[in-house]
Amino acid sequence: MEIEFPNGKNLRLLIGDITKIRVDAMVNAANSALAGGGGVDGAIHRAGGSAIMRDLDVIRQQQGGCPTGSAVATTAGSLPAQYVFHAVGPIYRDGRQGEAENLASCYSTCLKLAEERGARSVSFPSISTGAYGYPMEEAARIALRTIGEQLREQDAGVREVLLVLYDQGSYDVHSRAAQALFADRIK
Ligand code: ADP
Repeated sequence: MEIEFPNGKNLRLLIGDITKIRVDAMVNAANSALAGGGGVDGAIHRAGGSAIMRDLDVIRQQQGGCPTGSAVATTAGSLPAQYVFHAVGPIYRDGRQGEAENLASCYSTCLKLAEERGARSVSFPSISTGAYGYPMEEAARIALRTIGEQLREQDAGVREVLLVLYDQGSYDVHSRAAQALFADRIK
């Protein structure tokens, strides 16, 4: 599914493995220790190689880790990208611990990092919806709304955002949310 924004910018939803798709900046769903883990984090480190962890070691020495809702940039190693942005999503408890704000902040922070680094295409996984337990319908609305706001606002920079869903069920949830939010923009 493709959603069009002014000035030829677009948001695409697709099913796949994020590590296989060529972009300028690939977003990882990391943890606040930047320690590496399972899920998409494990896949990114496996496919990208040890150069990514070496960059993260330096960041850990400088600033300890990364707070929830924020992100740090590293090399993409052997991944088909220039950068990996490691975003720390919220662990979902009851929805009253700032989860929505922190999840939105992951997406907006990564798009700001992309602007700063001149990345024109950015891919995101569905942050926090695996091990971190965020209900996917709600996470999808937050992700799409935040990406949409940024694509509408920015007059230069990021041209294409890919939301890479790992399976058909995740894709269906996100495409329903996109139809509700962007009915008139779907191509
Ligand atoms: P979190 O800890 O933020 O919940 P996870 O990696 O456990 O992160 O899951 C986030 C989402 O990423 C889940 O919806 C999961 O299905 C998906 N996912 C896992 N591996 C990949 C991959 N290789 N490419 C894209 N998405 C993936």
